[in-house]
Amino acid sequence: MKSSPEQVREWIDRARRVVVLTGAGISTDSGIPDFRGPRGAWTRNPLAEKLSDIRYYVTDPEVRKASWRSRLDHPAFTAQPNAGHLACAALERRGKLHALITQNIDELHQRAGVSPGRVIEVHGTVHKAMCLACGWRGPMQETLARVRAGEDDPACRECGGILKSDTISFGQPLVPEVIDRALSAAADADLLLAVGSTLQVYPVAGAVPVAKQAGARVVIMNAQETQFDGIADAVLRGNISVELPLVVRGVG
Ligand code: NAD
Repeated sequence: MKSSPEQVREWIDRARRVVVLTGAGISTDSGIPDFRGPRGAWTRNPLAEKLSDIRYYVTDPEVRKASWRSRLDHPAFTAQPNAGHLACAALERRGKLHALITQNIDELHQRAGVSPGRVIEVHGTVHKAMCLACGWRGPMQETLARVRAGEDDPACRECGGILKSDTISFGQPLVPEVIDRALSAAADADLLLAVGSTLQVYPVAGAVPVAKQAGARVVIMNAQETQFDGIADAVLRGNISVELPLVVRGVG
């Protein structure tokens, strides 16, 4: 499908309740690799997928140690928002952003200025640590300080349970209230903009057909094909940090 950014810009100008759904592709230009893109973390190293799977994490201390080592220098702790994130914040300033559903765990949308109350983090955040046994949560940097001080698999100080980042790993249940909020925001949209996601991970990918069925225009912005390109009103394949500011206006 050939779609023009000018057409999408016009739709956004007319829209009143834009819902943006973002995936890892919006943060690659901030230096955080995606998983499944051509230079994605899993594409280059399939073993990395193990570190994102709760079944290996809870049963294998070596997987946990490797996870803590890789968290120490997770790019999300130093990354800066790019023009794509700033474009989402501009949408909010224009009074158009109804909700921003993100699969990302990097908090770059909030850092770019989107109100935290509008960001629906369906896969959690890497900026917090949590205990799988008692549900304790605290700032990730405090737990990382313990790792730097020599604890290679730090245990929960409240109950001795296994700690991890406050993100949803594969094999871990999603938070039903968060997913409900995401899908009901999608159903309220008059324009859904899906940005930088292969749209393979359910149930959040379902936000696209939900919005379409509720009568919203659907725009997909992603370098690679997605399964929903066929139901989209427009598909844009350009670089997100260039193209998103172009269609949103009001950036800067
Ligand atoms: P994905 O890795 O499955 O797909 C990303 C898509 O973005 C790919 O199709 C890729 O071609 C495209 N892309 C990458 N950079 C782009 C650019 N500059 N312009 C246009 N397109 C670009 O991502 P996903 O669907 O979000 O799923 C990965 C899962 O892993 C998510 O659920 C998320 O929780 C997690 N994840 C998060 C981060 C992060 O927080 N930044 C990073 C990696 C993975």
